[in-house]
Amino acid sequence: METIGTPFQPNLVAPTKAATSILQCPRCESMRIEKKDYGRKAGGIIGTAAGTTAGFAGIASGANIGATAGLIAGPLGAALGGIAGALLGGLIGGSVGCATGAKLGEVIDDTVFDNYVCLDCGHTFGNHHT
Ligand SMILES: [Zn+2]
Repeated sequence: METIGTPFQPNLVAPTKAATSILQCPRCESMRIEKKDYGRKAGGIIGTAAGTTAGFAGIASGANIGATAGLIAGPLGAALGGIAGALLGGLIGGSVGCATGAKLGEVIDDTVFDNYVCLDCGHTFGNHHT
């Protein structure tokens, strides 16, 4: 059962620098680093869209409730109640989705993408350890 030939050697890139406080370009050691945050931005947009869609999916019930409640105040009340219910559903869904998406995007930024770009040499690199 001796199938392991060479011992595992994880030190291909010396991971000695602390990745917490100071960011430094691994190629030219410049400190001028910018965060791209693609995932965060995309997550916010996607989250807003998804949340708004989900919110609008609840519009049917929201509008119905609003319209039913508004019926007490007559036809105009029903219309206004329906619109209010629909708007609330979309707005709440959108903002909740945006926050959730942005948070998710942040995680993706930190783990998947090369989220940092060096302003001196243009090198992109990630904060993730491999
Ligand atoms: Zn650089």
